Amino acid sequence: MQDANIVPVKLFIIQPTPFCNLDCDYCYLPNRQSKAQMSLDLLEPIFKNLFHSQLIDHEFTVIWHAGEPLSMPVAFYHAAFQIINNLNQDFNQNRCTIYQSIQTNGTLINQDWCDLIKSYQVQMGISLDGLDFIHDAHRKTRKGLGTHASTMRGISLLKANNIDFRVIAVLTKDSLDYPEEMFNFFMENGIKKVGFNIDEKIGAHESSSFETLGIEERYRNFMVRFYELVKSTNWDLKVREFEKLKSKICYGISKEIKEQFTPFIIISIDYQGNFSTFSPELLSMKSSTYGDFILGNVKHDTFESACETDRFQRINQDIQAGVDLCQHTCPYFSVCGGGSPANKYFENGFFDSSETMYCRYSTKILTDIILEDIENSLELQEIH
Ligand code: SF4
Repeated sequence: MQDANIVPVKLFIIQPTPFCNLDCDYCYLPNRQSKAQMSLDLLEPIFKNLFHSQLIDHEFTVIWHAGEPLSMPVAFYHAAFQIINNLNQDFNQNRCTIYQSIQTNGTLINQDWCDLIKSYQVQMGISLDGLDFIHDAHRKTRKGLGTHASTMRGISLLKANNIDFRVIAVLTKDSLDYPEEMFNFFMENGIKKVGFNIDEKIGAHESSSFETLGIEERYRNFMVRFYELVKSTNWDLKVREFEKLKSKICYGISKEIKEQFTPFIIISIDYQGNFSTFSPELLSMKSSTYGDFILGNVKHDTFESACETDRFQRINQDIQAGVDLCQHTCPYFSVCGGGSPANKYFENGFFDSSETMYCRYSTKILTDIILEDIENSLELQEIH
């Protein structure tokens, strides 16, 4: 790193195809029927661009994401990982550690994929909404069939191959009456790492089941109960939101607080080489204010040159104004840092804003639950 003001890239998100084999009703991606695929030839300009930039530190993670990354041939990744490793050797003498990660719906996992995952120690994230009837109500094939059994088949194969994975579960209003059942499902299936996303109003998904009257109380009750159950395992079940917020409450803000609103800490690249930064969801979105959120293309632009563009300057200025607003108005700023720009834009209509439904559910309510537990524990200690 040469410039002290530049924060190195932490997540390098590559969308090798917009296509997804499923048609989940809360998906935010607009072009998921397109079968376009990234060419392997694009990887050289992508990684040369990155390795020539000031954004490289000692490590970062490549996440293969959105549409469904496993709808690409497994041979694509064998070749891609090799190309990336060779370029890392040429440019960095392997001093930079690159972690490979795939976020998938899990339905296409077979032994060939497991062999690839083991060979390259790929970190796996599986989208699974817990109980079958909840998952199947939203995560469907294009013919409208549920996909829980297919995802669980993929998970069984990962387990048979001793491959570690985490689950990301989207909570809709349908999930909120079943905290015990969800907890039991994860425990009985040996799923020990879970992240909860809420049904967000974002991108092509223009309304959320969380906008329904009375959801806030049901969500709070769900999370209070789930927190109690997780605590009863002595935190053996790791819930991403609880872990991150507990850490921020107890030990202060770490580097991760700079995600999303810090330029180029996250870089997203589509199958054509177009790139964007800030929230990954922005890459494929159109905007009446900015046109879109594409800042350049790796074939003819550098990440640094993108910072000079009017579009980047306007977007960054508006995002930072939103963070300032949060800092001056929100008592949760010390554990949040200013939230997700994409959620602000798609819920409030502009980046220069503060509270969203997303931050109310994902930050404020959960922080209150954890703080209450910590305070109760301290009171108990004083009594004894
Ligand atoms: S919780 Fe919401 S309002 Fe508060 S700092 Fe975060 S994004 Fe801003």
